[in-house]
Amino acid sequence: MPCTFIRLAGCPLRCTYCDTLKAIPTDSGSLIAIDDLVQHVSNQNRPLVLVTGGEPLAQRHCIELLTRLSQLDCSVQLETSGAYSVQNVPAGIRRIIDIKTPGSGEVERNHLQNLQYLAAGDEIKFILTGRDDYEWARDFILEHKLGLGDVPVLLSPAWGDVATSALCEWLLEDALPARLQIQMHKVIWGSESEGV
Ligand code: SF4
Repeated sequence: MPCTFIRLAGCPLRCTYCDTLKAIPTDSGSLIAIDDLVQHVSNQNRPLVLVTGGEPLAQRHCIELLTRLSQLDCSVQLETSGAYSVQNVPAGIRRIIDIKTPGSGEVERNHLQNLQYLAAGDEIKFILTGRDDYEWARDFILEHKLGLGDVPVLLSPAWGDVATSALCEWLLEDALPARLQIQMHKVIWGSESEGV
C-alpha cells in the first residue's frame, strides 16, 4: 500500500541482524518540527503512514507525533522493538510489536507486559536468525496462545540467516498459527537499497 515512511532516529538496542545501523545514533537524523512533519504527511496524501526507527518509542515526543498523525485521514502504523511499553499509544493506531529472540542478542529487552495491551489490528513479529530462534518463537507462541485471535503473528527470516523455504517447511510441519513475512523491499529493490 502506498505509504509515507517516518524513520525516527535513535535506538538503545543492538540487534545482531540490524539493517538500519545508520538510524541508531540519536543525532543521525534531521530535526523536524511535528507541525512540519504532519503537514508533509498530509501533503503526501497516502492511505498509510508508518512510524518506525531506530526505536520510535525511545523518542520523547513520539506519542505526541502519533496523536497528531491519528487525526489525519489515513491509517497509522507504529513499528516498535517491543522494548518499550505501548500502553500510551493512542487508540486506533496499529502496533507492530517485535518479540526479540535469543538470536537477536536482545531477548532480555522484551517488555512482555505489552502482550496485555494487544488489540485487533495489532501484529506480533519475530525475526528469526536460525532454527533455534524458530523453536524459541514457536514455544513462545504456544505458551502465550498467540495468533489465534485477531492479532496476527508474523515470522520473518533475518535476511541471509534463514532460507525462506526452510521457514515455510517448519511452519507447515508445526501448523503454527503464524504468517510468513519477508522483507519485500529487499526482494524488489535489492538488499543494499536504501530509502525504500
Ligand atoms: S530494535 Fe530495530 S533499529 Fe534497534 S537495533 Fe534492533 S533492529 Fe536495529
